[in-house]
Amino acid sequence: MNDEHRAKRSNEKMTTIRTTCTRCGDVELTTADIGLELVAHGATGSYRFECPFCGVVQRRPANERVVSILLATGVTYEVVSTAGPITEEEISVFAKALDQDGWFSELVSQG
Ligand SMILES: [Zn+2]
Repeated sequence: MNDEHRAKRSNEKMTTIRTTCTRCGDVELTTADIGLELVAHGATGSYRFECPFCGVVQRRPANERVVSILLATGVTYEVVSTAGPITEEEISVFAKALDQDGWFSELVSQG
């Protein structure tokens, strides 16, 4: 009787994603089990999943390849700000932004 759930299933290919639980070893997940978190610039991030066997929520880094695979399988994702140390690339981007005219006066005019 759960029409919403049934409709969702029928629209999705059931893709199996293999990963590893630190307790259980190899586990197989579906896209619905995984949440992807992309850092602000988009190409990398991390994903989290709840192990279907022991129920422990785990988080793994996702490189560009993993991110593209997970996105292709249709996992839900959110963009988060970078939590790690700032890279030199980010510093240079920030420095360039500072060199551009207008940002400071915009901040001031906002009050
Ligand atoms: Zn487990």
